[in-house]
Amino acid sequence: MRIANNCWNFICIVAEVLLIAFVAYRESATYYSFDVFYCVPIIHAARLSSVRALRRSDTHVPTIVGIFVGIIWTTGEFIAVYPDYPWSALLLNAFARSVTFTVIGRVMAKVWREREFSRKDVLTDLANRLEFTDRFATEQSRSERSGKPYSLLFIDIDQFKLLNDEQGHNVGDEALKVLSVILTNNSRAGDVVSRFGGDEFALLFPETDDASCEILANRILEIAKAEFKNKDWPIALSVGWVTGTGASKNVDELLRIADEKMYLMKKNARIHSRGDLVMKEIHVGDVSKL
Ligand code: GH3
Ligand code: MG
Repeated sequence: MRIANNCWNFICIVAEVLLIAFVAYRESATYYSFDVFYCVPIIHAARLSSVRALRRSDTHVPTIVGIFVGIIWTTGEFIAVYPDYPWSALLLNAFARSVTFTVIGRVMAKVWREREFSRKDVLTDLANRLEFTDRFATEQSRSERSGKPYSLLFIDIDQFKLLNDEQGHNVGDEALKVLSVILTNNSRAGDVVSRFGGDEFALLFPETDDASCEILANRILEIAKAEFKNKDWPIALSVGWVTGTGASKNVDELLRIADEKMYLMKKNARIHSRGDLVMKEIHVGDVSKL
């Protein structure tokens, strides 16, 4: 699917270059210049190259497209004024344009990639805390307008250090990835699934009330429990959620309160721990009362 997508994008880029070359060639006898539009396939290529955590080969896309644009642009020009276009100019212009577009494309791809990764957790590919906080602020504003509630689900892995110690750091990493897949598979397209760092995860469920959040949380707990048991990992999940409406408290404040509550519940659960999976619920119907 992804390969097909990339192929399709690549075909689009080639088509863009050829179309611009054709239009530029036709208008070469007039005052109109379409050369600036060669930036479009360059931007497209840079975007394609930076989307998600890319395969190595994708990093060559801006270079290939940059060279292609340089050659096509200059060839079109050459044909338009043939035979008055010297061969030395053909070579020099093709070279200079290829280098220029390659540099522009690669720089743009790098900037985009860094922007992408600054909002992502590298290990799990989930949103990181920065992305979560931004999306949460957006959801709060929407909730204020619509009056519809949103829910926040916090997850912390119990005994994660034990798993690292007993089975190694690699297995710990594997557990984080497995949990990330479970969380992603059990949330909707508009939900935000994030890793805050370590073994802490936070999910934002827009337009979700307390009862729906409870159903989601229980589903995640059950699936994770079965998966951990299947893999023989001595870990479990602790969860807690908050349901709120509007933006009476800012994002950081709300996150801090919910975090503290979850931590308290975790400590409580440890005191009464039965040594197996423990579910903790923090229900704050109206967050403004916190
Ligand atoms: P608790 O039951 O109280 O939650 O304790 P815990 O053993 O789960 O440990 P805690 O939540 O206090 O700390 C999380 C540990 O996760 C600390 C660190 O060794 C480990 N850790 C943090 N990031 C990573 C990571 O990226 N990979 C792996 N394998 N381990 C990590
Ligand atoms: Mg933990």
